[in-house]
Amino acid sequence: MIEIRNVRKVFGPLTVLKGIDLDVNKGELLCLIGASGSGKSTLLQCINGLEPIQGGEIVVDGISVHDPETDINLLRRKLGIVFQQYNAFPHLTALENVALAPRVVARLSRDEASEIARKHLAHVGLGDKADALPSRLSGGQQQRLAIARALAMEPSYMLFDEVTSALDPELVGEVLETMRLLKSEGMTMVVVTHDIDFVRESADRVAFLHQGEVCELGTAEEVIDNPKREQTQRFLRRER
Ligand code: ADP
Ligand code: MG
Repeated sequence: MIEIRNVRKVFGPLTVLKGIDLDVNKGELLCLIGASGSGKSTLLQCINGLEPIQGGEIVVDGISVHDPETDINLLRRKLGIVFQQYNAFPHLTALENVALAPRVVARLSRDEASEIARKHLAHVGLGDKADALPSRLSGGQQQRLAIARALAMEPSYMLFDEVTSALDPELVGEVLETMRLLKSEGMTMVVVTHDIDFVRESADRVAFLHQGEVCELGTAEEVIDNPKREQTQRFLRRER
């Protein structure tokens, strides 16, 4: 599991995370919601060690992320991350993009890496796009390629940062469908999203971040349909 204990994060004079406490349990889908600037992306970056923290601790499967003794590259393999915009290597095919990390990071042979890449492309519904260059893929297909690329390192956790926000509306569904598939297979996921319908339908729990704090935490029924805090109510009114 992921344990987030009293995490504090500053950028210069700005305190962006003000003592975050949050657990992500095995097999659960935790959604992070909140206004732009509330610290959602920063929290994901801290979880996978891309950003240092100034207080508290994040522990993934018993390993402290920011402990200088921790092998951060080994730890990052446990955490797949997908962003709003995925910049695939334009000169590599879909298959080569997915096979890259298994070859370079996990040091598998070309054949082994290709086999893994094929498996994960098929998994996200891109089995017939192995030889396509990214520029030939739709936005939704490119995001599924990004998911396949993250899965190729066989992570224990997947972190998603507004992966459908840049997509045309008609392409959102196929990406959400892929995420639902991963959940049904038992993947542990942290999903930052503004898609309240997805949250209601798929989240096991929801954390509402407000100005760097977890303002409200609970099931979707609690947080989305019956929010207790005024800040949550105000945010949800704006989102609808
Ligand atoms: P969210 O993802 O919820 O929109 P972010 O985590 O991106 O919010 O940002 C939280 C706050 O931290 C914002 O005020 C943002 O301007 C600031 N911030 C994020 N990244 C940096 C950075 N690298 N340097 C300085 N400030 C940053
Ligand atoms: Mg963000």
